Amino acid sequence: MSIKFTVTERDGTSLARNGILELAHGSMETPAFMPVGTNGSVKAISHQKLEEMGVPLILGNTYHLYLRPGTEVIDAYGGLHQFSSWKGNILTDSGGFQVFSLATFRKITEEGVRFRSHIDGSYHELTPEKVVGIQNSLNSDIAMVLDVCTPPDIEYREALKALEITTAWAKRSLKEWQLHDPAPGRALFPILQGNFYKDLRQRSAEELLPLDFPGVAVGGLSVGEPFPLFLEMLHHTGELLPPEKPHYLMGIGTPEYILAAVENGIDLFDCVFPTRIARNGSVFTPRGVMALKNARFEKDTGPIDSECDCTACRRYSRAYIRHLFKAKEILGPMLATEHNIHFLMRMTRNIRTAIRNSAFREYKEAFLDEYRGKHT
Ligand SMILES: [Zn+2]
Repeated sequence: MSIKFTVTERDGTSLARNGILELAHGSMETPAFMPVGTNGSVKAISHQKLEEMGVPLILGNTYHLYLRPGTEVIDAYGGLHQFSSWKGNILTDSGGFQVFSLATFRKITEEGVRFRSHIDGSYHELTPEKVVGIQNSLNSDIAMVLDVCTPPDIEYREALKALEITTAWAKRSLKEWQLHDPAPGRALFPILQGNFYKDLRQRSAEELLPLDFPGVAVGGLSVGEPFPLFLEMLHHTGELLPPEKPHYLMGIGTPEYILAAVENGIDLFDCVFPTRIARNGSVFTPRGVMALKNARFEKDTGPIDSECDCTACRRYSRAYIRHLFKAKEILGPMLATEHNIHFLMRMTRNIRTAIRNSAFREYKEAFLDEYRGKHT
């Protein structure tokens, strides 16, 4: 096994569990939220601040880093850790989702995907083997296989075709990964797809899990579907996952989605949403999302959240941070970003404590009652 994952506690009333994931750049407790550092940088916050908050892992986007600065630059440093001076772990996605969502043109064949860069319009081709090679250049602690991510509401035969290609690409990715004899503490995860068809989700699990990857990711959820459908598919998929391996749900990062994910046995999750809304002046609080630009905070001398001990809440008032946003000062997005990551770090710590006490469901209900009850 290339990485070690130990389930340390189980909630008992749900699939929620605590674990320790040991990777090349340190051990981390799960469940864990992973901030997204698209270009090797989590927007509007320094690596030093993330380290101080105890963030054990950040994401990098293979698609973006491949297009800019390119692997030749990163190869000169021996990987993304040294290039970006990040001491913790790095998970990189495969680029499949960005090709699906960003590229101005794309054509998927059984060989790979051809697309036009959203930056300069240049043509590129990614194959499963090439994507493994790029992630080897990045020296990702967790790398992902190239997959075909599909939108909701597509027809069954289209979802089936995407699934068949995803499985074939996972097999090719694994072969390529093993050829290069990866260092201990590094791992490649497959991505379970199947769109919103339960039998295809099941089939994806049946095809990918026997390949014995050291962990598994769930893709293609939280892509615009209604929340009840997300919950239904997550519950169905959660029960298919091998209990002894780490489970990563791609692209979720709001409190309601995190609680649902953990309840269904998810250990790792990431999303750009918490840092993106922060840059627009919206922050998480125990009583819901607060839009700091709102006029009612103009003379509000209190902190964003009196229970939070991040820099923004310890030192500044809502009125001052609102002023920073109105005056377009860079410090505004920086403080809001730190607060939102801090909020999710504290929330996941509380989740782990609740699981340790076999009280996850009570924690979840109490959290949601407060979060949904009095939106500020
Ligand atoms: Zn705070």
